[in-house]
Amino acid sequence: MSLTPSLFPELIQALIDDIAAHAEEVTELDQAIGDGDHVFNLQRGLQALHEHASEIAPLDWVAAWQKIGMTVMAAVGGASGSLYATLFIALAKSGRDKVIDISGFSDAFLQAVEAVKLRGKAEVGEKTMLDVLVPVALALRDEAAAGKSLAEILDRLCQVAADGVEATRDMLATKGRASFLGERSKGHIDAGAKTAQLMITAIAAVLKK
Ligand code: ADP
Ligand code: MG
Ligand code: MG
Repeated sequence: MSLTPSLFPELIQALIDDIAAHAEEVTELDQAIGDGDHVFNLQRGLQALHEHASEIAPLDWVAAWQKIGMTVMAAVGGASGSLYATLFIALAKSGRDKVIDISGFSDAFLQAVEAVKLRGKAEVGEKTMLDVLVPVALALRDEAAAGKSLAEILDRLCQVAADGVEATRDMLATKGRASFLGERSKGHIDAGAKTAQLMITAIAAVLKK
């Protein structure tokens, strides 16, 4: 299998299906400590990407990431929309001077996650999607540097993502809407961390086929 944006339509369909399958669960999470719209926001973004999938498929990765970022930016409101738009636009920027193999991608992805941290003025441990994205980016870099196979890397990333979600449960939210609840944010998993994990796992399943 060639890892090019020709996979994009299949990847988007997998994300749409996986978010739909977990919609109720994620909505409950965002209702508990947010405003309940996280699934709606994500689905808007995914639907817009689905509509542009045939334009994105023939591009190279850098052009594809730029287009993905701009599409998400235009389509989605909410914190998650601007943060995912930032992730992909930053991925395009940092991927520009790299060969996009696993190692080049791991460097670019780590830089893109740094851009998300800057955009949201947030760090690991604040009960957000970053509690999945940061450990996954670090594990990807380490696994790629260790020369692991794609299948081994993907399995490891799925495990790290699941651990990241679970870690948000006992965190105090200090960013985003959940921070308004203070101590009452504890005891709930963060919705954005959960969907980051779901999307990473769905992407891994497509790439492992
Ligand atoms: P909104 O909070 O505007 O309604 P969403 O519900 O779509 O937007 O997204 C909420 C998710 O966004 C949270 O669960 C959290 O994971 C993530 N989030 C919120 N603020 C930040 C931030 N400053 N940095 C990183 N992620 C954040
Ligand atoms: Mg919300
Ligand atoms: Mg909202």
